Amino acid sequence: MVFLTQWVFYGLPWLQWGQRQAVLFDLDARRFYIFGLVLYPQDFIYLTGLLVVSALALFLFTAVAGRLWCGFACPQTVYTEIFLWIEHRIEGDRSARLRRDAAPMSGGTLVRKGAKHLAWLLLSLWTGFTFVGYFTPILDLGSEFASSALSAWEIFWVFFYAFATYGNAGFLREQMCKYMCPYARFQSAMFDNDTLIVSYDEQRGEPRGARSRKADPSQLKLGSCVDCSLCVQVCPTGIDIRKGMQYECIGCGACADVCDTVMDKMGYARGLVKFSTQNAIANGWNRAQIIRQVLRPRVLVYTAILISIVVALGVSLSLRVPFKVDVVRDRSGVVRELDGGMLENVYRLQLMNATEVNQEFRLAVHGLPAMKLASPERVSVGATQSRWVAVRVQVPVDASKSGSYPIHFEIEALSGIGHVTEKSVFLLPR
Ligand code: SF4
Ligand code: SF4
Repeated sequence: MVFLTQWVFYGLPWLQWGQRQAVLFDLDARRFYIFGLVLYPQDFIYLTGLLVVSALALFLFTAVAGRLWCGFACPQTVYTEIFLWIEHRIEGDRSARLRRDAAPMSGGTLVRKGAKHLAWLLLSLWTGFTFVGYFTPILDLGSEFASSALSAWEIFWVFFYAFATYGNAGFLREQMCKYMCPYARFQSAMFDNDTLIVSYDEQRGEPRGARSRKADPSQLKLGSCVDCSLCVQVCPTGIDIRKGMQYECIGCGACADVCDTVMDKMGYARGLVKFSTQNAIANGWNRAQIIRQVLRPRVLVYTAILISIVVALGVSLSLRVPFKVDVVRDRSGVVRELDGGMLENVYRLQLMNATEVNQEFRLAVHGLPAMKLASPERVSVGATQSRWVAVRVQVPVDASKSGSYPIHFEIEALSGIGHVTEKSVFLLPR
């Protein structure tokens, strides 16, 4: 999961899609590019849908398999894992580090610690650079960096994100999960007795105690736990899983892995610490019985809602007309009476082309007898660009009584990708 998530995070901004970056959130231009999709602020509904899908997916996965997100995909866990790996490579394993920390400071220790912090800082800065690369084209960012031309905001966000990564993964680590992350607090509401959690098999493990590899635990009246404390040492949140389920447990499974290695060395069966459910532990269920419990009502309801929203979102996206129009009545201009017995209102139309090719649009207006456009009917907008155009609408003076009348602008793409109707009002003076 570390490799997968980091390939995606570090790699995505470098992917190109035609002449542009494949995934780019261009806040300046108010356009989001996601591969072939070009989204405008008016498409905010899709972002809302995505957030709803993410939240429901979190509920579903948590109900089935506990804190999968926390243990395997949360950036806090993933970066802590990477930082720990760097620490392990440079400073050695935990006992070597403890030994070195307890000894007086030496040149070798200083060099190792300096190298570790340098590696952490470089990785953090690269992470900050990548993060900003989702909002500024990363190739431009690279050349701005090379020519020392980064803007103040770009510098701020690169360093802010780098600082957050360095501080959270290098120093705060489990404190984030224990004291700052709200998810740990409400996860219990999503758990039930059939949710997979990392559990210690107390019946099998107790009474715990050290013994030689050759000793027979039944003669010593001992369970399978050799009380080596490795499960506590590897735990990123520093808890002892043998004390039962605790809210600090992020379900990473590190204790289960290390305990299996101990069981292998002792020649005992694996699974003293394992992913299981409270019902399975209490009733001694096997794997097939655990899996049968997955399809329970709560899970089915979450799944049905999730599938419905994903399908609705997919259908809505596929039917989406790939251009948008905003109509703003020109409030500064009064209604003008023209020579030739015509009255005129002026509007500003924003045409947003969400396709990757230039588009030509035909404008028309309806709403009052003999209403017509007095400005060009055809407007071109470049690929993925938006354009404001002033539109003059005229009616004969005797078209209707004074008042405010609803009118409709019809905007049709000549390429045949669709048409849009937008409402506005036409004012006739007293
Ligand atoms: S790693 Fe396994 S054997 Fe060692 S203390 Fe933890 S539960 Fe007991
Ligand atoms: S108790 Fe085990 S699964 Fe839970 S956080 Fe610690 S190491 Fe990970």
